[in-house]
This record gives sequence, structure tokens and C-alpha cells, in this order.
Amino acid sequence: YRNAPPNLREALDAGRAHGSKVAVTYNDERYTFDDFFQAVDRLANYLVRERAIAPGDRVAIAMRNYPEWMIAFAAIVAVGGVAVPLNSWGRTEELTYALTDAGARLVFCDSERLDLIAPQLASLGCHAVVARGTPTVAQATHWTDALAWPAERPEVAISPDDLAMIMYTSGTTGKPKGAASTHFAIAQALYNFELMGYLSAMANPEIIGQMMSSGFEPSTLLAVPLFHVSGCYAVFLLNLRGGRKTSILYKWDPEAALEVIERERITVFTGVPAMTIALLESPRFATTDTSSLFSLGAGGTACPPHLKDLIYSKVPHAYPGTGYGMTETNATGSSCTGEAYRLRPECAGTVSPIVEMRAIDPAGNPLPPGEAGELVVRSPTNVREYWNLPEATAETFVDGWVHTGDIGFVDADGFVHVVDRIKDMVIRSGENIYPIEVEGVLTAHPQVREASVYGLPHPVLGEELAATVYGEPDVDPEALQAYLKEHLAGFKVPTQWLLSPGPLARNATGKLLKRDIREAHLASR
Ligand code: ATP
Ligand code: MG
Repeated sequence: YRNAPPNLREALDAGRAHGSKVAVTYNDERYTFDDFFQAVDRLANYLVRERAIAPGDRVAIAMRNYPEWMIAFAAIVAVGGVAVPLNSWGRTEELTYALTDAGARLVFCDSERLDLIAPQLASLGCHAVVARGTPTVAQATHWTDALAWPAERPEVAISPDDLAMIMYTSGTTGKPKGAASTHFAIAQALYNFELMGYLSAMANPEIIGQMMSSGFEPSTLLAVPLFHVSGCYAVFLLNLRGGRKTSILYKWDPEAALEVIERERITVFTGVPAMTIALLESPRFATTDTSSLFSLGAGGTACPPHLKDLIYSKVPHAYPGTGYGMTETNATGSSCTGEAYRLRPECAGTVSPIVEMRAIDPAGNPLPPGEAGELVVRSPTNVREYWNLPEATAETFVDGWVHTGDIGFVDADGFVHVVDRIKDMVIRSGENIYPIEVEGVLTAHPQVREASVYGLPHPVLGEELAATVYGEPDVDPEALQAYLKEHLAGFKVPTQWLLSPGPLARNATGKLLKRDIREAHLASR
């Protein structure tokens, strides 16, 4: 888009116009847009003048979702630095590895993360700024000391082709990969999100009308990590740019989420489908005032078919949405909201106007509409490469197209259907089985809270289909098998079952860690 901002700094500067409106809340802390940008400018000054951060230098962020996370991010990109958000669930080894891999000169952290990395800082040649807690080593500065610099942002030239961020993929299928992105690509992605929002509003005038007349200020509950695209783009960056409030939830918990929704009059909720379902099914839902909630999104993984009915029965006034995207495209791909979602809840919506998406056969030839193959995406929002991974880069980024590793198709009406990940497909005696389909039916069963379906080795069939289920206390695999047989072909019904005493393993984005769940099943045999 020609009218997209040329770089991420200018994209975020749009938020400055919102002055005294509230930008961020965290428990009882509140930051206006003025507060926010004043802190950004002070920190930017500190980065350049005291730490000599120059364009292209990597600066990591290793902390929980705190307002300081957002301020640090905006300051890093404002001085041409490359922001490297790290997984706050990481232990010493993982954090140290990421800091080394990125060659980070400085890290913004909280006290828990400082404890984990402090002994390593000297040998890494990395300085720490501690947002919450005390600097315990010589290589660490307290946040308030860094903020003592005057709020004067240094002038630094940023080219659209400069790197702005290294964002790690969710690590659902293996070790997370650092997706290195230019300012241009991220600015395009944000602009695209906004255009998609406008298009969707035009297509759903009655819902937008209701929202406008309700008088609630647009605001989002941030319940997903800032260190992945879901929280960073779809919530933080867009809201900061658009002058909307972001309310940070300390830790995902449906009850706590409902409390913040009521207190802050939250209008937008997004999460992976399991979170949206947990929110709507929480016993507290009935006694919470959710009248402000007008948009309920779920994405990042397939939406089970019954989510639609749940949304329409629990929040009939809400505007549901889902989408398909990935770190490698800066979260851009397709989206499905409002009326389109009501009509086609089983798909991931229409391809964004600036994106080309198609399915290809194994030889790389485009397939006709409706035929499934690997989805590939060409888009100005695509990231440049995987950081320090030339082989993976060459495999995934081919002639401008991102090879997604997902199987799917675009139908004749232009709607995108994501079938499953190639790596998750099970081949049972020559029959291809897509676990997402089975999981969707299984989780609709009233006694199933969560389910994961995968293949296990079988001497004759090659693979047999297996499932781990976290359900109500009296859940019975035989009954589940009978139920599945009513809805699916026999070969799609798992034969090996494991009941889990608690919720299934998920990564920080909230996606099921199928590899670990499968390993646990194998180990239990
Ligand atoms: P890793 O690449 O490290 O294994 P990841 O692929 O989960 O992790 P992300 O970039 O956060 O990391 O997620 C993008 C992926 O999520 C997509 O490639 C796709 O597999 C899945 N996904 C996203 N949206 C949807 C959707 N609407 N339906 C089905 N799958 C989706
Ligand atoms: Mg991926």
C-alpha cells in the first residue's frame, strides 16, 4: 500500500494524537497516550545517548506482558534498533541461547528474567534494563534511571528496508524460528489490518451501528503473549496506532479475564479458540456484565465448529471473527468476520486484498480452486528470512512465496480453508487423516473439554489414530468412539485413547503441543 507508513516508528507515532486518552491498563495502573510516548522518548534518548544503540543493533525484551514491554518495544524501533521479543516462559538456557543467537547488545527484562540471565550478561556483552525489580549485577540498570533522560527522541534515519524485529514463531512443530522482518513489511501489515477492519465494518453496518450507539470506547483485553504476533500485532501495535485502550491481563485465567472485561468495559476479546470457549463457558460468565463485549475473535489454530453456536448463544450482540496468518507473513493472510463468519464459520475467511494465496501440488504447481495442497503466500507483509537459519530460509521463502507448511485450499468463492498442518497429517493404511477434523467433532461432545488427535506407530497400518482427552470425570473412551462413529468414517475414529487428569500441554500462544502429548501417550504404553 502506498499510503502505509514508511516505517514502524511512523506507524506508531499516529498514536501520539490521542494524548490524554488511556492507552494501557495493568491492574490499577493506567497510562495515557501522553504518558506512554513520553516514556518512549525518554527511553529512546537513553538507548542512543547512554548505550550507543545504533540502527540495526538488536535489543531484546524478556519480560511478562507489562506496560514496560510495550514502551521498550516502541523505543527500540524508534531509534532504528531491531526488537527481539523473547519467550518469557524460557529458562536460562533458552534465554541465553536467544540472546546469543540474536547478538543482543541490550535486554529489557523483569526481575525473574534477570535472575535467569544475570550470570551470563558479562560474557554475552549484553546490558540489562530492569523494568520491575532491582538490578542485582553491574551490567544492569534500573528502568527509572533509564527514564531519567529528557523526553527528546533522537533523530535517526530509518529506511523501509531496515530490519525492525526478529519475532520467534510459536514453536508448535519444533524449535521456534526467528522471523526477521523489515519496517516496510510490518507497516504494510498494520495498514492491511486496518483496511480489513474498515472493509469488515462496511459489510456489517448494523453491528458497527450498535457498537457506536453503545458509547463504549473501543478497547482490547490482552490475554495472549506480546512476544508472538497474536498479542504484538493484532492487539498492541494496532491499538497503539489507532488510539484504543489495551488492558493487560496478568495471566490467562477465564475468571480474571471476565473481571477485567467488566471493570474496563472491554469491547474486543481475542485468543486461541480454547480461550474463547473457556471464557464463554466459565461459570462466572452468567454473573458478569459483558454488555460492552462486541467483538469475539479466535484464531491461531482451527476453530472447532461448535464455537459459532456458543458465541451466538452466549453473546448474541457480538461480532465474531477468525483469521489465518502466521509469523512469517507478519500475521497477514485471511479473515472472516461478522456476516461472513455467520455464513461460513467453517473456513478462515477471504484472502486479504494485498495478499496472494494459493494451494500448490508437491511439484509446486498451482492447484485449481477447491483442491487442497500446501498453502503458499506472496505478500508485501512477508518477513525477509529466518534469522541465522539459511537452510530453513531457503526451504520456506521461495521466489517471494512463503511455504506455510499448512494444507488447505481456496474455494471458488475466494474463501480459505485450512485443513491441517502437513506435519500433523496421519497416514493410516494409505488413508490420509487430518486430526483437526476429528478434534473438532470430539470437542463438541459435552464430556470433552480438550482433545488432541495424532498418529502412533503401528506394525501393519503404518500409523494408527490415537487421542488424548481431558474431559469430565465420567468421560468414557468407548462412548466417545461410538459417538465419533456416528459423525465420521470409521477410519477416522481413534483406536488408542489416553485420558488426561488435567488440561493438555500448550505453548505460550495457547496451541496444543501435539508432539509432547503424543510422546506422553507413547511413554504410557
Ligand atoms: P512453529 O512454526 O514454530 O511450529 P506456529 O506455526 O504455531 O509454530 P505461528 O506463526 O504463531 O507459529 O502460527 C502460524 C500457524 O498457525 C499457521 O501456519 C497455521 O498452522 C496455524 N493457524 C493459524 N491460523 C489458523 C486457522 N485459522 N486455522 C488453522 N490453523 C491456523
Ligand atoms: Mg509455523
